[in-house]
Amino acid sequence: MKNAFEFKKLIVPGVVMLAFWGIALWGYLVSGYTQPLIMFGYIGTSLGVGLGLYGTLPKRQKPIGRRLTLFLIGLFLVGFAIFMGHENVQIEGFLFGLLTGVIQMGVIHYFIAKIVGPLLFGRLWCGWACWAVMVLDLLPFKRPAGRLPGKWGWLRYLHFGLSLALVLLLVYVVGFRAGAAGTAAVTWFIVGNLAYYAIGIGLAYALKDNRAFCKYLCPVSVPLKLTSRFALLKIKGDAAKCTACHACEKQCPMDIRISDYTAAGTRVLSTECSLCQTCITVCPKDALKLSFGFDLSGKDLLRERVV
Ligand code: SF4
Ligand code: SF4
Ligand code: SF4
Repeated sequence: MKNAFEFKKLIVPGVVMLAFWGIALWGYLVSGYTQPLIMFGYIGTSLGVGLGLYGTLPKRQKPIGRRLTLFLIGLFLVGFAIFMGHENVQIEGFLFGLLTGVIQMGVIHYFIAKIVGPLLFGRLWCGWACWAVMVLDLLPFKRPAGRLPGKWGWLRYLHFGLSLALVLLLVYVVGFRAGAAGTAAVTWFIVGNLAYYAIGIGLAYALKDNRAFCKYLCPVSVPLKLTSRFALLKIKGDAAKCTACHACEKQCPMDIRISDYTAAGTRVLSTECSLCQTCITVCPKDALKLSFGFDLSGKDLLRERVV
């Protein structure tokens, strides 16, 4: 019985790893280059190992699996972009790549991790691979008091719109087309990331919330929220087991009202969920699990802070 239980915990890691290796192989066969094979094979293996560790380690040690994966993937992608691809893999680099036809690993990365991938695995990127959160999650504010009341989350859309407008202006008005790859692109990537880290850390301390940058400012969350609405992989609660103790919600870094979804008989439909699995780990009744399925509707039920 015990073995069957352990095997179950490896199904999701196995599916994720195989899916990435499928993409890696497909990329290699279509392009003839080994880069997609190395990149997506490495990412898939890191995710598989991290998710597998998370699933099988004792509760207190589970975060090791996620931290390890964040560093394995985050450092690899940043190093790959700067030293091998010489690319800008910030969102502006992706937009430059699309508009100027420079379709390198940055553009492919965005399609897989942030546009097509979330249809399958939701915002797994945000919980397990993002190089910004690799650092922000080390800060001490892991249990936020809730979201700021009001429309502060719309700043992300404004940020996305400004990034798009800037790239359009530079490409079509100024004639600058070197924002995706090359020395200027790498400089943009490094300076942009340093700015993200500075703002992200500042916001985390100001709002006592490690994920404040994700909730209010990150432009990448815009496409992620759009496609992850239809994600096959989501958190599912068992209403018969749930005692509405709210322990999961107090620990959720994204302030999601998990037990409200469970009480309503739906999976966790919020597009804010990063699939970090913290809620599963802390639930004293084992009422939560990862599940594959399909949901047509989606609603963000979020906890607001009292100010
Ligand atoms: S919202 Fe942005 S900063 Fe936060 S984890 Fe996702 S991609 Fe990274
Ligand atoms: S609902 Fe669970 S998996 Fe999703 S962000 Fe919150 S704690 Fe993480
Ligand atoms: S921690 Fe478990 S029992 Fe408590 S509210 Fe969350 S799902 Fe229900």
